[in-house]
Amino acid sequence: MKDTAPYRIAIVGAGPAGFYAAGHLLANTAVPVTVDLFDRLPTPFGLVRSGVAHDHHKIKSVTRIYEKTARREGFRFVGHVDVGSDVSLAELAAHYHAVMITTGAQTDRRLGIPGEDLPGVHPATDFVAWYNGHPNYTEYAFDLAAERAVVIGMGNVAVDVARIMLRSCDELGTTDIADHALDALKHSRIKHVTLVGRRGPVQAAFTNPELKELLHLKDVHIAIDAEQLVLDAFSEAARVAADDRELEARLAMLREAAQREPAPGVDRVLTLQFFRSPTALLAGADGRVRAMNTDVTHLESASDGRLRAVATGETETLEAGIVLKSVGYKGIAVEGLPFDDRDGVIPNAGGRIHSEEGEVLPGWYTAGWIKRGPTGVIGTNKADAQESAQHLLDDLSDGIHLAPSHHADALLGRLVQRTDLAGWHRIDAQETSRGEASGRPRVKVTNMDDLLSLARGHRPAA
Ligand code: NAP
Repeated sequence: MKDTAPYRIAIVGAGPAGFYAAGHLLANTAVPVTVDLFDRLPTPFGLVRSGVAHDHHKIKSVTRIYEKTARREGFRFVGHVDVGSDVSLAELAAHYHAVMITTGAQTDRRLGIPGEDLPGVHPATDFVAWYNGHPNYTEYAFDLAAERAVVIGMGNVAVDVARIMLRSCDELGTTDIADHALDALKHSRIKHVTLVGRRGPVQAAFTNPELKELLHLKDVHIAIDAEQLVLDAFSEAARVAADDRELEARLAMLREAAQREPAPGVDRVLTLQFFRSPTALLAGADGRVRAMNTDVTHLESASDGRLRAVATGETETLEAGIVLKSVGYKGIAVEGLPFDDRDGVIPNAGGRIHSEEGEVLPGWYTAGWIKRGPTGVIGTNKADAQESAQHLLDDLSDGIHLAPSHHADALLGRLVQRTDLAGWHRIDAQETSRGEASGRPRVKVTNMDDLLSLARGHRPAA
């Protein structure tokens, strides 16, 4: 160990899992390490920057913890380097003692129904990246000219996109929403958003604070069919077995909202439609989506004990000028490492990557959504990443690591396009000062060239 310490660790993906892992590694006193945290963007923080909705500013303040990690001795941010194309895993292995993959879940799950790729049908995750100013999504166009939007899915992302489509632009204008999205939403004609869940209110994936906020949007009427809140035998048994105050509170919130009368003058409506499973998206004469066919469903208990939505034979068609599919994120394989395509994760035991046959790959680790799948809130990644990081440290103590032949500085010296932490701080300072001038937390720089100019210390384009 004396020959090699401090051990050099590369972490790939500067989102919450990457930062929590770096924090744990650098806070340990038993094994001296340095951490190079790679990201393909010149900005860190992953989905906290480009996923968490801009009107959830408090959640975004978790980045203060990550900034603290970034100030630790031995930490370097290696921005604008794509592992896979700019640098290979073999090169990382030749320069670091261990590599941890924390690339998250970078794509969306597909529905596998006809019409899924019609114009006007989008993954909700694209809409999220667009309104959050992710530089790869600034050119995306969302046609908000129709009155009716449908969101497929009942998770927190579905709640986020429904809220953003219905929230008033006066409220959105005080956030760090990307300017291009704010402009588009100012001209939006959407008046009616329907969230469509294939199962019932007990099974919906959203959490209570998010639901509460949705049900209390200013000047939005909530439409819920009270009959859908009458629990079937399976749901009632699940409710009794769960004995969960959160679930009781959720059902109470939904029942209260279902009783509300529309307030005079309120013309925006949010419908929560349970027990509808999409079967096809239909095009209008202009080739764009105009409607969605659904099966009306009821619940049945499957052999694995999960309650499944099963078609009753009845069908229903919903009008929709835009459809956002919000049925979950999915991880993407990292070339050269094993991958479980069904679950979209890298096979691992407590963060130690192993082959499909279960053989551990010494020196290779994973954490976050690419380790366990896209579940939980940001904080869930803390314990998850700490587990992986601790296993990495334990292995180093036991002499288990890669055998790098070169120092990491040799690799970084070659990656001339890379940006660093000081570069991010220049972007941050520019964004926050533009924000101060307009009473917003920040005004995001969303163009990649401008981000790179700032990161490299040049004045941004006018
Ligand atoms: P999610 O929580 O997994 O929800 C996915 C939804 O899609 C579920 O309602 C699911 O229904 C439905 N679905 C899946 N396949 C479907 C199909 N073929 N047809 C119809 N519906 C289908 O995913 P998410 O909303 O993308 O969220 C990902 C994670 O990020 C979650 O852990 C979430 O809590 C977290 N997140 C948190 C916040 C926050 O804290 N504010 C914000 C955003 C996201 P079934 O249950 O029937 O499968």
